Amino acid sequence: MSTFSRSDRRVSELPPAPAFRPGQRVLLLSPHPDDETLCCGGMIQQGVAAGAGVYVAWLTAGDGFEFDAALTGRTLHPGAQNLRELGNTRAREARRAVALLGVPAAHTFMLGYPDGALFRLFSVNYVQPFTSPRTRSSAVYVTGALTPKAPFSGQALEADLRRVLDRVQPDLVLVPAPQDFHPDHHTLTYLALRLMADRGQEDRLRFWVVHGGLEWPVPKGLHPELPLTVPPRARALPWQRVDLTAQQQARKVQAIDTYRSQTRIMGRFLRAFDRRNELLSPAALPPLSAPASPSPALAH
Ligand SMILES: [Zn+2]
Repeated sequence: MSTFSRSDRRVSELPPAPAFRPGQRVLLLSPHPDDETLCCGGMIQQGVAAGAGVYVAWLTAGDGFEFDAALTGRTLHPGAQNLRELGNTRAREARRAVALLGVPAAHTFMLGYPDGALFRLFSVNYVQPFTSPRTRSSAVYVTGALTPKAPFSGQALEADLRRVLDRVQPDLVLVPAPQDFHPDHHTLTYLALRLMADRGQEDRLRFWVVHGGLEWPVPKGLHPELPLTVPPRARALPWQRVDLTAQQQARKVQAIDTYRSQTRIMGRFLRAFDRRNELLSPAALPPLSAPASPSPALAH
């Protein structure tokens, strides 16, 4: 009880994030279908309401969740076909979720690279395509993908992301923070930092967290009256607060519930993101401070 009121106070002391402006172009890069709604379902609605152009790109179709495919396909041992069907199901859910939040289909991009393998694509499979042991695919298969049949390589994914940036010409790009512990999430962080730095636009990046450590956000389940506290793994980031209206919160949970393939299994985790506020950081890392004393672990 006292824990919540303490963190409640900390959140209310955070500065508010700057409001979206008419004509501003906002691109949200989402590793998996559902991340965009969890981190930013309220911000997306506020951007649309302010007259900004809001765009969403999903890097993967979320086809790596085997337990999920077992339930969806009603089999205990989902095969490659079940997992490909799951990819298409989640891609459809994603478009429906963001449509509810006000993003038109023409503002969405499904890239369709393999769930759970983004780090491989940017290491051993940068050039040589990766074959997913789950879907038995080595190329983009999701219906409605930006580049159908693109090979599962880092090079191809990078080319797709550059294409999205060229088309959208974003003023703001919302990406996972490097502290987000899901490897697909922080791999996207590094890629986005590099691509935006290449364009001399790294100051347009803003950072969010979905996998924040220590079971965050707690408590699980739907608690719309509570604030979203600062994620433990990214406590030191210069967080800003985005307050949601009751109406925006209601719409956000509706968008979360669109992900029926996910809410059946981890609904209590997903609904825990429907809180009074969302969080955004203008920096990927905490400010540097001088070490108090030399670290013995680093001394030679
Ligand atoms: Zn994710």
